Amino acid sequence: LVSRKQQPEDTVVQVGEVAVGGPGKTVIAGPCSVETEEQVREVARALRQQGVRLIRGGAFKPRTSPYDFQGLGEEGLRMLRRVADEFGLKVVSEIVNPADIELAEETIDVIQIGARNMQNFELLKAAGASRLPVFLKRGMSATVEEFLFAAEYIVSGGNSRVMLCERGIRTYEKWTRNTLDISAVPLLKQESHLPVFVDITHSTGRRDIQLPVAKAALAAGADGIMMEVHPDPAVALSDANQQVDIPQFEAFMEDIRNQGLLQ
Ligand code: PEP
Ligand code: MN
Repeated sequence: LVSRKQQPEDTVVQVGEVAVGGPGKTVIAGPCSVETEEQVREVARALRQQGVRLIRGGAFKPRTSPYDFQGLGEEGLRMLRRVADEFGLKVVSEIVNPADIELAEETIDVIQIGARNMQNFELLKAAGASRLPVFLKRGMSATVEEFLFAAEYIVSGGNSRVMLCERGIRTYEKWTRNTLDISAVPLLKQESHLPVFVDITHSTGRRDIQLPVAKAALAAGADGIMMEVHPDPAVALSDANQQVDIPQFEAFMEDIRNQGLLQ
């Protein structure tokens, strides 16, 4: 069902006023984790000013260590909703438990399924039964074929509003957090009709190369990019080393817009 052979024309996923996978490029930005209402509000204001309509933020955080910040859970989703409504934004947030899909439908606009859960088949089936669009990230060791089969779980469950996100894969390279598989972008576009994103934050794990990586992603045919923005990354409760601050985000957006890459 996700194959271009089945459907030659691109799928456009409508999220509020944003037509994801349509002619324009989509930016999804926001903090790694939802921490406080003021933190989310500062980011939301900057997004709105830059014309970004989709805010991300993790409330259920799949952390490597059980001692790390695990997220605010339900309260985090409600906080995102309140702030997003103040600024006319739509909310993308990760769900890790099939039992929380109902809560997601009540509070957010797009269900994110993270790299660690790309093959959590019960979660994929639950997302397939949801009325919300799904932002599916590639597993850190998943092949392109496995990634597309994961999307197939959701679409075959009855939910055709799926967006794919390449977020880097594990290799021996240590200078980046993951290795962005840029060739996955044209491959996914060729093999599937679903919109394709590149997460420029988790793929690189560093701030200094996000602009050229974003350019490469868009030039390779990505329908959009995802990035993490935090008002004060140094004190962030997760991913402090890779999030950009608000002036850096604004400079990034200006650059990418001036170069005509968002059309
Ligand atoms: C995220 O986007 O919040 C995240 C945890 O990324 P990933 O699942 O790609 O590691
Ligand atoms: Mn993060």
